[in-house]
Amino acid sequence: PQAQIGVTGLAVMGSNIARNFARNGYTVALHNRSVAKTDALLAEHGDEGSFIRSETIEEFVAALERPRRALIMVQAGAATDAVIDSLADAMEPGDVIIDGGNALYTDTIRREKALAERGLHFVGAGISGGEEGALNGPAIMPGGPAESYKSLGPLLESVAAEVDGVPCCTHIGPDGSGHFVKMVHNGIEYADMQLIGEAYDLLRRVLGLPTAEIADVFARWNTGALESYLVEITAEVLAQVDAETGKPLVDVIVDEAGQKGTGRWTVKSALDLGIPTTGIAEAVFARALSSSTEQRKAAAGLSAGTLAAAPTDKDTFIDDIHAALYASKVVAYAQGFDQIAAGSKEYGWDVDPGALATIWRGGCIIRAQFLNRIREAYAEDPQLPSLLLAPYFREAVEAGVDSWRRVVATAAATGIPVPAFGSSLSYYDALRSDRLPAALTQGLRDYFGAHTYRRTDKPGSFHTLWGGDRSEVTA
Ligand code: NDP
Repeated sequence: PQAQIGVTGLAVMGSNIARNFARNGYTVALHNRSVAKTDALLAEHGDEGSFIRSETIEEFVAALERPRRALIMVQAGAATDAVIDSLADAMEPGDVIIDGGNALYTDTIRREKALAERGLHFVGAGISGGEEGALNGPAIMPGGPAESYKSLGPLLESVAAEVDGVPCCTHIGPDGSGHFVKMVHNGIEYADMQLIGEAYDLLRRVLGLPTAEIADVFARWNTGALESYLVEITAEVLAQVDAETGKPLVDVIVDEAGQKGTGRWTVKSALDLGIPTTGIAEAVFARALSSSTEQRKAAAGLSAGTLAAAPTDKDTFIDDIHAALYASKVVAYAQGFDQIAAGSKEYGWDVDPGALATIWRGGCIIRAQFLNRIREAYAEDPQLPSLLLAPYFREAVEAGVDSWRRVVATAAATGIPVPAFGSSLSYYDALRSDRLPAALTQGLRDYFGAHTYRRTDKPGSFHTLWGGDRSEVTA
């Protein structure tokens, strides 16, 4: 045996990460259910480093140095379970199985438990960065036994992206923690993209800017506080001209957004944890609405009522949209980090938010300058109650709040949907409100269901005898 790492599942992600390991000087054992993929990889890229070909799982496992380290890159769900089972049967106590697919974190918790009983280490590693990242340096979020990270960590860190000499990979915590934070990462990615989409829509429909000019606006924004991979590629996608029609490509793409599930998982988890991750939820719902083709067609004739005219000062409104995008983005991240803190508490993971912001600075889809500020915020105050309260973000959001309100008000007045801008502003306003209408909700709940309420002026639980003389009793 001579391979330091093995990769099974050699579709795009697995092939590229195997090549990444080989390019970094490791000997990599290769395996795929259908051997054709293994041979295709060797034929095309076999000269990039040292690979060991295998046809069966037994051969694959036999090629690995001990403790054996095998990375699974197959479809999440049943396929992953099948591969884990066959690997586990061929391995020995102390060996490490890494699942680099997009597994649901509860599956990872279950698998880690089952494998631990057999003496095997199971590491659920979230990997972000798509095909390109897998090849040249992804962000890696491994969760699992701390002991396994000792031997596995250096390998993963050497193939991960790097920012300022710091690898975009760190041990996240036990069992499902790595896949959980990867899931929320993807949820934040949904929110980021929705906010970018709303900004684009306002520039297009309210200001009537030509697509090429909107591309320039995003390119300019990418040189400032919003500098990020997603804003950068927004400028590129908007600048793309369709060869066939000569129109901007974006204008010939069907406006129905797909989704593979990680955004939906994030929102389901947020609901279970009771965390208002509204930005991500609005983004998931916005994709669903865009794909409600029949309803949209049927509703196309609904009246917009009387619409206001567009703002007259174009440059001011562009700056307003920038401020709204920035502030809403802070809200989306604040909510995402709240969800991670809640998940960490629920499952006893002890996830370090600052370390997470650090590894998300490079390699992954949400990589952004912005994450440096988040990293600093948690370095300054690890107990931060909300990212919105970190001095830097507080100042930035407060400076832009008038713009944010103008954008949401203008969107409403001109009939442009801005679910993420709007709900983020409402979240901000709710969070800073002295009194919320939840007091009335409690009164109603007490009226119809005797659910009781607490009082502002004394401890205890109370109930009003709504059906009787309406006096108050102690519950
Ligand atoms: P796919 O998700 O398309 O999976 C294809 C691979 O799974 C093939 O190697 C296939 O083998 C194997 N496979 C499927 N079913 C089985 C089974 N029952 N037993 C054994 N092997 C099986 O590949 P990707 O490279 O796109 O993604 C791999 C993982 O990485 C997924 O979990 C994905 O969610 C995740 N991921 C993907 C990203 C992306 O940008 N694509 C980004 C981040 C994570 P065969 O060739 O024999 O059919």
